[in-house]
Amino acid sequence: MKTESLFKRKVQLAFGFAMLTLLLMGALSYRWMVLSDESNQWVRHTHEVLTSIQNLRLAMESLRSSSREFALTGRESDLDLFHANVIAVKQDQDDLRKLTADNPIQQNRLAALADLVAENIENSEAIIRLRRTQGLTVAATASLTDRGQKGADDFEALADKLQSEEMGLRKLRFAATERDLSQTKIILFTGTMLGMLITGVAGWSALRDSTMRTQAEAHLVQKVQELNRSNEELVRLADAARTMTQQMTHAAEHDALTGLPNRLLLNESIDRAITFAQRHEIQFAVLVLDLDGFKHINDSLGHPTGDKLLQSLAKRLVQCVRSTDTVSRQGGDEFVVLISEIDHPQDAISMSRRLLDVVAGATSIEKHDLHITASIGVSIYPDDGRDAETLIKNADTAMFHAKENGRQSFQFFRSAMNVQAVERQMIEEHLRRALERQEFTLHYQPKINIATGVVTGVEALIRWTHPTLGSISPGQFIPVAESCGLIAPIGDWVLREACAQAQAWAKAGLPMLTVAVNVSAMQFRNETFLDDLRVILSETGLDPRYLELELTEGALMKRAELTASILSTLRESGVRVAVDDFGTGYSSLSYLRKFPLDAIKIDQSFVGQITTVPDETVIVRAIISMGRSLNLRVIAEGVETQEQLDFLKAHRCDEAQGYFFSRPVPPQELVKFLETQLILSEGLQH
Ligand code: C2E
Ligand code: CA
Ligand code: CA
Repeated sequence: MKTESLFKRKVQLAFGFAMLTLLLMGALSYRWMVLSDESNQWVRHTHEVLTSIQNLRLAMESLRSSSREFALTGRESDLDLFHANVIAVKQDQDDLRKLTADNPIQQNRLAALADLVAENIENSEAIIRLRRTQGLTVAATASLTDRGQKGADDFEALADKLQSEEMGLRKLRFAATERDLSQTKIILFTGTMLGMLITGVAGWSALRDSTMRTQAEAHLVQKVQELNRSNEELVRLADAARTMTQQMTHAAEHDALTGLPNRLLLNESIDRAITFAQRHEIQFAVLVLDLDGFKHINDSLGHPTGDKLLQSLAKRLVQCVRSTDTVSRQGGDEFVVLISEIDHPQDAISMSRRLLDVVAGATSIEKHDLHITASIGVSIYPDDGRDAETLIKNADTAMFHAKENGRQSFQFFRSAMNVQAVERQMIEEHLRRALERQEFTLHYQPKINIATGVVTGVEALIRWTHPTLGSISPGQFIPVAESCGLIAPIGDWVLREACAQAQAWAKAGLPMLTVAVNVSAMQFRNETFLDDLRVILSETGLDPRYLELELTEGALMKRAELTASILSTLRESGVRVAVDDFGTGYSSLSYLRKFPLDAIKIDQSFVGQITTVPDETVIVRAIISMGRSLNLRVIAEGVETQEQLDFLKAHRCDEAQGYFFSRPVPPQELVKFLETQLILSEGLQH
């Protein structure tokens, strides 16, 4: 902007100077013209004056000579000439007077000259008169002629003076005009030069400015283009940043595997649903959906297949709900569904059923037709919680209960479940100090050989009596101990205690009994399990042949490859292994042949139904015959009635355990039981 205004000013300046120079040149040229004209006028004027004087002198000469001629000859023609000359002289005098009207000196001289003229004419007329009247010749008029000569000389002298004066005047004026002219010339020249110089300088400067300006403009254009480019770059960067932010926001709020909202976004959705529900006094539901046995699929078919299954399920779940509802993945195989608006809790039932059906439909992934089921827990706003966290937590609790009740089912949250959760929390707290406070004891439940009625061994079952809470069943605290890792030291203690007890009984002279100890999956998976066991056996001094470990199918299957080698080691050391709760876990039975096992324990749920549900007897019979064919001892647990015992006996089940014989009892009581049994069997033998 500054450059532009400077350039404009310079152009204006150059233009101004050019105009001024032109004006000056014009003025000077005009002055030149005026001066030249003046000088010409003077020349002409002087010339006229001089001519006029000359004419006058000639006329005067002619006048005098004609008068003299007449005096000599008396010819009339000379007289006529004389008169004509008089008129001519007067005329010339007049002309002269006019020509020199502006010059008072010359006017004065002319007046003097006029007197001389008049004197000369008078003198000549006097001669003419004398000739006419008296006939006198020139000689006679000699005096007159002399006078006339003198007058003529005076006239000539004055005329000369006039002439030379005029010449001098002309010379003066001419010189002045010449001087003025040369001055004008100089001024005109220097003015022109100066004007040209200034205009040139201004023009050059403007030109230079213009070049600079052009360069500056080019530079500016380049800069603008660069700016534009960097602007575009900036816009692109901003776009990229925006996309990145969006991607990051999306990534932060979504599950990477399925693209579903994650917990963060779900919480926001629930918060919004709460606000909406409060305003419109409506209810909404939170469903926690957990896949049953997904881990098994992952372990057996590999994670990529598991991931594909989750992705496929995610899609199907989303299609199942309304667009206003939210399906989110919480990690692992757990989904949370927000049903944003329900008229009645029953609406959640139909939705749960739909979701269960959707999951149960076969999913075909890489030629595998996968069948999976789910369990759903439901919580309802506002009854089951007034914030996202509580609602999800309660739906989660309900989901666990659904799983306990059997797979492919749903369960509504009941506040009782919450009580359980609180209880669990409390148990965990007290469990941490139970060992050091020696709050655990072991009870023993005998196992009887059905054919002989002889006690073959005992199962050690843990008991916990808390000083204020009272006795807490292992069914309650063992799962808690497993989930918080306390099962390791507790399991260790049980093993040591049971082994020590068995050894004590042996020392006391009681017949040797096999002691069965429950080993939880967590415990069995522990790398130090075998070493720990070896230490316990050597420290207690118990013959390993009198120890039997009860492991559930799940525990055996967790590390199938390792289980085989651990079981072999155990077999070599003499320790026996029984499969606990047989029939409730894996349907695959091939492991029974692969693993070196000693016994299977028919789960009490089958035994309990022997007399009530006829179909169940098929299962029990099948287990017994299978055990026999695999050369495994078959133990029925939870035998409560004579009928059950009779049935088992009829089908040649090896051993029985249950309230029918004895509840799990403290060691002293067991001794008493054994004594009576001993007496009984001895009595029978006699
Ligand atoms: P389990 O190994 O199946 O043990 C048998 C359970 O059935 C015991 O319950 C026992 O008291 C009960 N029972 C025995 N006979 C009958 C009967 O005729 N009728 C009925 N209804 N029940 C009978 P308990 O002692 O409450 O133990 C429950 C579960 O806790 C055990 O099931 C076992 O899985 C676990 N457990 C107990 N002690 C230990 C332990 O020291 N370590 C580990 N890891 N788990 C243990
Ligand atoms: Ca057991
Ligand atoms: Ca059992």
